[in-house]
Amino acid sequence: MRCLILSDIHANWVALEAVLADAPDFDELWCLGDLVGYGPDPNECVERIQEFSCLCLAGNHDWATLGRLDLETFNTDARVANTWTQSQLTPEARDYLSGLPTHEERDGFFVAHASPREPVWEYILDANLACANFPHFDVPICLVGHTHIPVIFSLNEEEAHCETLLPPEAPLKLGEHRLIINPGSVGQPRDGDPRASYAMLDLDDMTWEFRRVAYAVEITQERMRARGLPRRLIDRLAVGR
Ligand code: ZN
Repeated sequence: MRCLILSDIHANWVALEAVLADAPDFDELWCLGDLVGYGPDPNECVERIQEFSCLCLAGNHDWATLGRLDLETFNTDARVANTWTQSQLTPEARDYLSGLPTHEERDGFFVAHASPREPVWEYILDANLACANFPHFDVPICLVGHTHIPVIFSLNEEEAHCETLLPPEAPLKLGEHRLIINPGSVGQPRDGDPRASYAMLDLDDMTWEFRRVAYAVEITQERMRARGLPRRLIDRLAVGR
């Protein structure tokens, strides 16, 4: 079985469509949360995801839109964008987001938006934080999003430390080490590469492939301008920061 792995779409429908067009055939779509927030097309993204056989998780922006998180914990731009999203969300989209779990175990993978120990909130930004999270799941591999940076953290169990691995060009064979893997962000990459980031997971061959695809950033930016979304959020899409 082949799975398309997406995270942090953030209402960037143009980026989502580019990923769907670029992805090889897949049987299931796993979405690691933050479908909405920041971007101009929240309802379109929520609707599109539901067209697929889908495992979808809730992220912090999804929860904020539902009023489950205090917006005071967000920075000003994120707060402005989330307040706008709340005003736009259809009852159907709201219902869908309301039903999403925060974490799940599927086919030997633990999946969460943020981290195993804090599924909605914690940013696994370095090897130390990754190391502290391995005891919080039982299966070999955990998939998370949230930081918008594609990366692999690999546990060396004998020495009880973690290594940070940059996304390899070639598909990675899974199964040798316990891993925490982040596919990066579809709708707002932050690793200096503005192309949409995603991954393919093959459960038969047990391989993982990081992928990037360019999309029409300027169309998303134009839609954000038309909706009066914050300037900084518009500008950052062009540089992937
Ligand atoms: Zn996010």
